[in-house]
Amino acid sequence: MGENILGEFQEQVSQLLIRHRSVLDVLSKTQESTARINRALTKAITECGCVQITAKKQPYDTSKSLEENREHLDTHFSGHLCEHCRDVLTEELGKNLFYLTALCNIAEIKFADVLKSEGERLNTLGVFNLS
Ligand SMILES: [Zn+2]
Repeated sequence: MGENILGEFQEQVSQLLIRHRSVLDVLSKTQESTARINRALTKAITECGCVQITAKKQPYDTSKSLEENREHLDTHFSGHLCEHCRDVLTEELGKNLFYLTALCNIAEIKFADVLKSEGERLNTLGVFNLS
């Protein structure tokens, strides 16, 4: 996967986005699709049951390094998505990317550039600074 597929996707989005052309529509659709991602994952947990959340306070020892602490940090997420829940979540993630890409189009930002500069930022900062 390279810049080509991202560029093609961005072009596809620009051609398809006729109904929700206003930036205001795109902003509200982006937010709505984020809520739908949460809902898809929540349903996988509470209705299907293929995955679980078991959460507790994360242990963090300030006398140890980030790397040493890392191995004790938990995602609080267990199990594996079944095929149905994976399909639903994949679809919702795709819609979210669609609207984010539409926002890129309106703002005249290349989607590939967003990924590239975020990748560079992560390389500079290191993943542990991600909050
Ligand atoms: Zn499931």
